[in-house]
Amino acid sequence: METSLDKINKMKEMFKDKTKILVLSGAGLSKEAGIPDFRSKDGLYSKNFYDMDPEYILSHEFLMENPKMFYKYIRENMNYKEVFPTKVYTKLKELEEEGRVSGIITQNIDGLHKKAGSKKVIEAHGNLIDFYCNKCYKKYNMNEMLGNRDIYCTCGGLIRPDVVLYGEELKDMSDINDLIENSDSLLVLGSSLLVYPIAYIPSMFLAKGKPVGIINLDKVYIAKDKNVIEINEKIGDVFFKVFGK
Ligand code: NAD
Repeated sequence: METSLDKINKMKEMFKDKTKILVLSGAGLSKEAGIPDFRSKDGLYSKNFYDMDPEYILSHEFLMENPKMFYKYIRENMNYKEVFPTKVYTKLKELEEEGRVSGIITQNIDGLHKKAGSKKVIEAHGNLIDFYCNKCYKKYNMNEMLGNRDIYCTCGGLIRPDVVLYGEELKDMSDINDLIENSDSLLVLGSSLLVYPIAYIPSMFLAKGKPVGIINLDKVYIAKDKNVIEINEKIGDVFFKVFGK
């Protein structure tokens, strides 16, 4: 029976010579910074807000019909002003500087990779840091919008976060495809791999015989493949054993 240490050593070996590691991060990575994920039993989706399902509140339809309530929800539940990157975030930035990490694709909307100083970051679902007017596209910042600024622009348009809400199109995927093409391996950190199309990325690596390492507390949904190593533990407990301090 394979022990946790065996798996860690295998993963270490897997990434040892890799110089273009693509990182795919999800809510589990930011949980260690204190931000709740969506789907765990203590996650954001487990708590209704004024009897409404958060998944509905975070939709395009809801923002358009009930913008004040949308803002009340994000101001009270998704305010990332005082949240800071963990040491894992910092190490990922250093690995990019050392030329080992080719880039980061994140599903997180908290902006922590950029806050940590990582440069090549694709926020597939946008973020809750940058805001803009949906009429004149003037930019607004998080401090004012998550404070108590009026949610309408001087032109009368609604100010909204640059985030992909339910019912909206994902960001342009062409950068993502280039990054995948130019990476030699994939490291998944804290994602259940349930949200598509991001969840297709591991199989794109495996189809080309490129290895995939996964560190995620719960087991993820991925086809059995000799090029996959999955460790179901906390990122903070495993990551530095694989990549060094
Ligand atoms: P998810 O909630 O579906 O899955 C998170 C996974 O992280 C779970 O499988 C859990 O087992 C794992 N996990 C929790 N704590 C962990 C830890 N300490 N170490 C290792 N693994 C841990 O998240 P997802 O796959 O990123 O789902 C995507 C959706 O959630 C995205 O649409 C994203 O925009 C959104 N989201 C983002 C944030 C954020 O920005 N921080 C927070 C919540 C949700």
